[in-house]
Amino acid sequence: MRLTVVGCAGSYPGPDSPASCYLLEAEGPDDAPGAAAGATRTWRILLDLGNGSLGALHHHADPLAIDAVFVSHLHPDHCLDLCGYYVLRKYHPQGAQPRIPVWGPDGTADRLARAYDLPLDPGMNEEFDFSDYALEQPPIVVGPFSVLPFEVFHPVTAYALRVTADDRVLTYSGDTAPCLGLDHAAEGADLFLAEAAFREVDTNPPGVHLTGTDAGRIATRASVGRLVLTHVPAWFDTADARAEAVTAYDGPTDIAVAGATYEV
Ligand SMILES: [Zn+2]
Ligand SMILES: [Zn+2]
Repeated sequence: MRLTVVGCAGSYPGPDSPASCYLLEAEGPDDAPGAAAGATRTWRILLDLGNGSLGALHHHADPLAIDAVFVSHLHPDHCLDLCGYYVLRKYHPQGAQPRIPVWGPDGTADRLARAYDLPLDPGMNEEFDFSDYALEQPPIVVGPFSVLPFEVFHPVTAYALRVTADDRVLTYSGDTAPCLGLDHAAEGADLFLAEAAFREVDTNPPGVHLTGTDAGRIATRASVGRLVLTHVPAWFDTADARAEAVTAYDGPTDIAVAGATYEV
């Protein structure tokens, strides 16, 4: 699968990047009515659609060609551009677009209706097919992708997302403090996209975010193939996050930048 970093700024859009949004693409069977037997196409899913990211998405894919959206949690830097995406799909001059699946924590549909100031019924339910992650959630299959959410540790209900395609695994931490759920989500991942919003030198509140060192420790514990640090707020230097991580992990370690792509 291919990862494109659409937005990676931590907590709010920065000067060089929107907030969190990651595009994953992989080839899979074309199940459209009338498609030739054995035909394939490129499938596209988004992990988060944070503030500022919908505009940047246009540089990387036709925004109408997204098959599903997976929201890690309901903080604005991870979900708010679903408001703009609702407009784009509902009022597009080519006509209203078919509903696509939007997965998220309990209450995602109501949260987004309130964000847009819509009545909760119908809210955005005519544009998006909302589902909440469940306890004991079986893998969610979208074309070639299989997505498994793991509950993690943040001030609101939040999930790490473990995505498998063609036997390759990408794990996205979402926002979380170190926790068992994240260890399980990251186990053996080929690419671990880990937030590093905090720094070791600061006094950090518990139960909110990882430091670069935390991300490195988890990458080592989980024996991941590559670590990509993300969600560093614009008020910090990304080089500090990387410098911390490499003290705890000796595999390939990158800083996510907007527009970067990775073959996983
Ligand atoms: Zn965040
Ligand atoms: Zn958050």
